[in-house]
This record gives sequence, C-alpha cells and structure tokens, in this order.
Amino acid sequence: MDLGIKGKRGLVCAASKGLGRGCAEALAEAGVNLVINSRTEADITRTAREIAERHGVEVIPVAADITTDEGRARVLEAMGDADILVTNAGGPPPGNWQDWSREDFIRAIDANMLSAVALMQALVPGMMDRGWGRVVNITSGSVRAPISVLGLSNTARTGLTGFVAGMSRQVAGKGVCVNNLLPGIHATDRADSLDTGVAKAQGLTLEEARAQRQATIPTGTYGTPEDFGATCAFLCSQQARFIVGQNVLLDGGALNVTI
Ligand code: NAP
Repeated sequence: MDLGIKGKRGLVCAASKGLGRGCAEALAEAGVNLVINSRTEADITRTAREIAERHGVEVIPVAADITTDEGRARVLEAMGDADILVTNAGGPPPGNWQDWSREDFIRAIDANMLSAVALMQALVPGMMDRGWGRVVNITSGSVRAPISVLGLSNTARTGLTGFVAGMSRQVAGKGVCVNNLLPGIHATDRADSLDTGVAKAQGLTLEEARAQRQATIPTGTYGTPEDFGATCAFLCSQQARFIVGQNVLLDGGALNVTI
C-alpha cells in the first residue's frame, strides 16, 4: 500500500534499535526523510547510515538524551519543521511500589511523559500551521492493564495518555492526528532485560522465562520491531486521517478483554 507520505520529514526518538528503529525503518521505507536520535553516538550513526542506504532517504543522526532539555534542543535544531513525530525513550526500571522515591517518579515522568509532551509542544504548532501532521507516541500496554513491577512506567505513561486524549482533539481540526501505539511484548533488548529479571526472581533460565511469557500471548510469540514499525507507519499515513486520540494496542491478543 502506498502510504502517501513519500518526501515528508519525520523525527523518530530513541531509534538506534528496538521499537524506535522499527518505526524509523518503516517510515523510511515509505519514503520519509528522517532525523533519528539515541544517546550512543556510534550506534545512532551506524543505524542512520544503514537505514539511508537501505531505503534511499535522508537520515540525520543526533546523539542526545531526549529526556533532557539540552538533548531535545539539539534534536529539534537538527529537525527544524517536522511533518511526523514519533516519541520514545527508554523505559523505567522494574521495582517494588514501596521503594520508589519522589526522585524516581520525577525521573520516570520526565522520561516517559514530559519529554513527549515537550516534543509535541515544539513540533505540533508548525504541523497545524501547515495543515498536516502525524504524531505517534510509543507508550505501553501497561496503560490498559498495569504491570505490577513496572509501576513507574504505569504511572508516567498513563499521564501521557491523559494528556494526548485531550490535546489530540484540539489539533485534529488542523489536519494533525495524534495517537499512541502500545507495545505488548516485543523481541527487543528491553524484553530481554525484563526476561532476565523474571528468570533471576523465579530461578529460571532465560529461555524458560521467555517461554513462560510467550505462553501468555495468544499468538504464542513476541511481536517484532517490524510488526511495530508497520503499524506506526500506517498511523502516520494519509489513510489514517480519521484516527485521532486512539491507543492502539499491539500485543498479539495478550490483553484478554472484549473491547
Ligand atoms: P530497546 O530495545 O532497549 O531500545 C531502546 C532505544 O532507546 C535504544 O535505541 C536506546 O539507545 C534509546 N534510548 C534509551 N534511552 C534514551 C534516551 N534517554 N534518549 C534517547 N534515546 C534513548 O527498547 P524497546 O524495547 O525498543 O522499548 C522502547 C520503549 O517501549 C521503552 O520505553 C519501553 O519501555 C517501551 N516498551 C517496550 C516493550 C517491549 O516489549 N519491547 C513493551 C512495552 C513498552 P541508547 O541507549 O544508545 O540511548
């Protein structure tokens, strides 16, 4: 399907690997010129080169911490005007609800709520002026069903979800569609590190821990960055113009609900 976004310009945050990279690859395949970001210079530079070579688009890497004002300023300077924004950052560490301090909550809220809000505040007004834009916030299935050990993530991402619910309706009239894309379990380094935690806590091998989590998913497999990227690119397409303020769950059917 032609997504109708060839030649658009997009920013994908936290994109040297995993879900962010999946989104960057799929947008590049659709012909979008990109700025991509992550903290480790060598990784983001290599990823940008690989994506540019594979898809024949311009990909500018910016090594910066997207959760800081300074990092975001550098990324935004490289971007200039954007038609498409994909917000993302590393997830907070697992833990116990009794142990998290105010500072832990502030860090998680900065990373997984306020950095996305700041990026939207910076880029969406320009999209509105030009009459077209797409924003996809990578959140988590944890906004639909909490993951107990990821209370910091549950908290911060639910805050972002509430913000998007309101603002997406305020900008849709100017041709800007803002939605959230909720990963269930996808095969990335983040999933490996959570599986390693489960293995340690339950005295299992990594393979056993993975098999145990896979058995909770109706598809019997984890999702992939490619699955995730394809959905993200569709949400950024011309065809998605009527999808506004939604929380699209991509979890292989793991959340057992009727709607
Ligand atoms: P991943 O494979 O570990 O990749 C994380 C990417 O983000 C890397 O490119 C990393 O590069 C970059 N990054 C991390 N912190 C950053 C920061 N502060 N500023 C800029 N870049 C940063 O993780 P993932 O699985 O793709 O997960 C992406 C997001 O989805 C996370 O928030 C995660 O919690 C959430 N999520 C994932 C799953 C899943 O199953 N994979 C499920 C639910 C939610 P550098 O380290 O070099 O910066």
